[in-house]
Amino acid sequence: MPNPDTTYAPSAEQAKAAHVDAKGYEEMYAASIADPDAFWAEQAKRIDWMKAPTKVSDVNFDLGSVNIKWFEDGTLNVAANCIDRHLAERGTQTAIIWEPDEATDEAQHITYQQLHAHVCKFANVLKEMGVGKGDRVVLYMPMIPQAAYAMLACARIGAIHSIVFAGFSADALGARIDACDAKVVITSDGAPRGGRVTNLKDNVNKALLNDFDTVKCLVVKRTGQQIAWRDGLDFWLHEMEENVSNDCPPEEMGAEDPLFILYTSGSTGQPKGVVHTTGGYLTYAAMTHEYTFDYHDGDIFWCTADVGWVTGHSYIVYGPLANGATTLMFEGVPTYPDAGRFWDVCQKHKVNQFYTAPTALRALMGQGNSFVEGYDLSDLKVLGTVGEPINPEAWNWYYNVVGKGKVPIVDTWWQTETGGHLMTPLPGATNLKPGSAQQPFFGIKPLVLEPTTAEVIEGNDVEGVLVIANSWPGQMRTVWGDHERFEKTYFSDYPGYYFTGDGCKRDADGDYWITGRVDDVINVSGHRMGTAEVESALVAHEKVAESAVVGYPHDIKGQGIYAYVTLMNGVEPSDELRKELETWVRTEIGPIAKPDLIQWAPGLPKTRSGKIMRRILRKIAEDDFGALGDTSTLAEPAVVDDLIENRMNRK
Ligand code: ATP
Ligand code: MG
Repeated sequence: MPNPDTTYAPSAEQAKAAHVDAKGYEEMYAASIADPDAFWAEQAKRIDWMKAPTKVSDVNFDLGSVNIKWFEDGTLNVAANCIDRHLAERGTQTAIIWEPDEATDEAQHITYQQLHAHVCKFANVLKEMGVGKGDRVVLYMPMIPQAAYAMLACARIGAIHSIVFAGFSADALGARIDACDAKVVITSDGAPRGGRVTNLKDNVNKALLNDFDTVKCLVVKRTGQQIAWRDGLDFWLHEMEENVSNDCPPEEMGAEDPLFILYTSGSTGQPKGVVHTTGGYLTYAAMTHEYTFDYHDGDIFWCTADVGWVTGHSYIVYGPLANGATTLMFEGVPTYPDAGRFWDVCQKHKVNQFYTAPTALRALMGQGNSFVEGYDLSDLKVLGTVGEPINPEAWNWYYNVVGKGKVPIVDTWWQTETGGHLMTPLPGATNLKPGSAQQPFFGIKPLVLEPTTAEVIEGNDVEGVLVIANSWPGQMRTVWGDHERFEKTYFSDYPGYYFTGDGCKRDADGDYWITGRVDDVINVSGHRMGTAEVESALVAHEKVAESAVVGYPHDIKGQGIYAYVTLMNGVEPSDELRKELETWVRTEIGPIAKPDLIQWAPGLPKTRSGKIMRRILRKIAEDDFGALGDTSTLAEPAVVDDLIENRMNRK
């Protein structure tokens, strides 16, 4: 059981300044569980309703009749909540800071007033193109302000957006356009990222093969490069905007009308089209944004995700803007022009809350501390991570090198399906433990189950699969067009609960540790082990930059441990190093965790959102790579070829 020697208690000042301190969290959490409907009815007041809801929750988790509704009879408009209601008080405050790909290009500051004008015009353009309430619009865009305008314009007129990350191929885009029967695709001509430009419009044309003559395309001019054009079906945003008014009253939407469709990352299989609705989602995004990051009026908030992921939806656009925050949008990548870019941007815009992914931190850590040192990061108040378990090694680097030992880290565990954070430490309230998501957010009732019998495991110092026993307003409502798949995926394995697909431990203090996906648990000679633990041990070695561990069939032990290891820049692989790493893991965890096979991996297969795709690594470790499954969300297919060629377990 992980039990770090060092924990990090908040200082007295941090506890005092925060929305809740340790005692405040305990009390508020207890109240949220004791009477959830009363708790959420109160929280729903953070939203401006057109018609206030009289009902709070209507939830059924039983297979065959799964139904989730929040604030059902309330009506509202999400865009009006993110923009219009702030105009009187903060019309001239910056809503969005846009930092372009090139560090030498000027940043833009868009006020709430300007945001209002942009979004209204954008919404009228969409109407002009025939888009109305309930219609689907696919966004395939760079990280430019127009991506946020497009989302909010859809919300304003009641259209449902489905964002496809601009790094996806034409095939993946086409599948998502077809799946939701989109009326319009919004894109840009080119998309600069890390100094390279992708021609997005050409990808859209390829993606539209099936519906080339029907689906319209709205194009934002970003680079001015040459693009293929379909007369009568393709429209420039700037030209369309010349002929529409900037007045667009927000549509009155039901709390349970869909706001967006978004596909999961595809780490475990075919991506699922997650559906989120308006009232509950916005309440939850706004509340988690405020508490998890201890956001206060006037703070500059930066989430480095792309709007193509749920993190970008909830914590670049909807959460921060609902709270009247200044949110930073970054077009580029962490390593361009060099590995100091994040810190340069933090310094330049005086960022207060910074939220990123472990994969980015590990990459930056591998480049050395010199890229952080020299920047003034004194405005940082909270650091956050999301996406994968963060190895204690990376946590410590983030805490000590970036935060200078003074800034609390929130390790937020959640999913596309959950709309917002489900478990996270809270700044000023939680005694931090590196690598642990620690405690449930308000209103969330996690349970640990015995994986095979589905029995609830009580008490501390226990391990099993993680389920949630109750609903919360930000929970997904269905899989687009396939409610049966929704029920089967999340409510059939452990009846009566929402099954997260993740495993976890609850330590002696009652803190939660996500051990990785349930599919990733390995069983060595009867000992069950999360892959995250072995990976963390490997990454803790000074010569290792990144690692992924999977199980493979082993004649004697049942399953053996197969470790893929990426070495630090400049370190040469050798048999001695292999031995050294085996011994290292033995001493760090114990003999049972010693890897049986270590393969040097120049790169690891990752989803476009930077998550390691262990299911592919499992196939290679099993020497069974004929059927790799859905690889459409794989970032760099060439990485897989190299791993197959150098596989260690040849039958
Ligand atoms: P798919 O569901 O298509 O296989 P995915 O699960 O990677 O893809 P996301 O919704 O993007 O899709 O990711 C959610 C998952 O990411 C969680 O279930 C968990 O496994 C992992 N995760 C997210 N945040 C954390 C965290 N802070 N600690 C540990 N794991 C995390
Ligand atoms: Mg998932």
